[in-house]
Amino acid sequence: MDAKAPITQDVLTIPRKLPDGPQNLIGMSHEQMRHALIAAGTAEKQAKMRVGQIWQWLYHWGVRDFDAMTNLSKDYRAMLADSFVIELPEVVTRQISDDGTRKYLVRIAGGHEVEVVYIPETDRGTLCISSQVGCTLTCSFCHTGTQKLVRNLTAAEIVGQIMIARDDLGEWPVPGGPKGDARLLSNIVLMGMGEPLYNFENVRDAMKIAMDPEGISLSRRRITLSTSGVVPEIARTAQEIGCQLAVSFHATTDAVRDRLVPINKRWPIAELLDALRAYPKVSNSERITFEYVMLDGVNDSDADAHRLIKLIEGIPAKINLIPFNEWPGAPYKRSSNNRIRKFSDIVYDAGYASPVRKPRGEDIMAACGQLKSATERARKSKAQIAQEAGL
Ligand code: SAH
Ligand code: SF4
Repeated sequence: MDAKAPITQDVLTIPRKLPDGPQNLIGMSHEQMRHALIAAGTAEKQAKMRVGQIWQWLYHWGVRDFDAMTNLSKDYRAMLADSFVIELPEVVTRQISDDGTRKYLVRIAGGHEVEVVYIPETDRGTLCISSQVGCTLTCSFCHTGTQKLVRNLTAAEIVGQIMIARDDLGEWPVPGGPKGDARLLSNIVLMGMGEPLYNFENVRDAMKIAMDPEGISLSRRRITLSTSGVVPEIARTAQEIGCQLAVSFHATTDAVRDRLVPINKRWPIAELLDALRAYPKVSNSERITFEYVMLDGVNDSDADAHRLIKLIEGIPAKINLIPFNEWPGAPYKRSSNNRIRKFSDIVYDAGYASPVRKPRGEDIMAACGQLKSATERARKSKAQIAQEAGL
């Protein structure tokens, strides 16, 4: 591929409004819901208040039935039921790993499927959600990148993943119930399938609902968006979402990063680092997480560790080392534990936290980069994967 060739996005985005039939209230922003309610006959003066009431039912109480919205009149509820639906993706299967990790296979409109993973830890519970079916990018170590079928998830489908996990965990509050209990689902990472910054608006709208104090009410400090390095959208993420940022860094020279994360050909390391340097100030967030997959003999030398430290100098950072999760046909091997420890020590000695990510839910193929959809239609061949990896 020509080094400066544009990375095209052949992605289908489903319009929020279906041509006929009722609209889904889930995923609408405040403003969109206000317009939709007015269009359905709500008096303009009342619309803002109605949005507030419906919003609380949907996102604070987790109610799915207009009849349960008891602070609305019977007639108004009937009007809502005529004009709107409350629609979430459908859970097809749920698997629970020996270590407590839960993986949901979720079906969205059009029969596509995405995976959602819940990872319980002692002090938190993290939900790993997807932003696209498949991914247009073709990182050579990533299973999702071998899928050809791609479509952007709607805001409803993104926030819906959080809602169905809360359903499964039995975590919606009950009126009069205890307050301030530690949450089972306390953190969100956009690290499932897809490149979130290639589906910016829908990801933003869904995260706004997740962060809304009247909605799902998760702090922006507990939401981490992982990008492969879509440089022009990084500043927008700081301004319009303000969540924590993780970046799939994975290499310390452009030659190697071009092979591992091909979007590097479009926005090479120096440009990416400039965007990252500006991020914390604009978003008022803390450290940037540098994700670094450990691939045997490819990016895991002492020299790599030293180069990494030099590159990120001056950026408040944490380095998250991810032992490569192998998948059938993968052109790489996981670095040895000794190698990973050595690399981690070098980074740590330079003053950076360098945790090694413990693979979770491996027995149910729920670990990073192992997600794939069971309905995927076309898979790349081994030869194609090897060619893209420059092997
Ligand atoms: N598309 C986004 C977010 C999803 S991937 C991104 O690339 O950042 C979440 C993380 O898992 C990324 O850092 C990704 O590089 C990493 N990953 C992908 N495949 C992996 C594999 N087989 N083993 C370990 N980590 C992997
Ligand atoms: Fe897409 Fe992220 Fe996988 Fe790269 S690592 S192919 S950007 S999902």
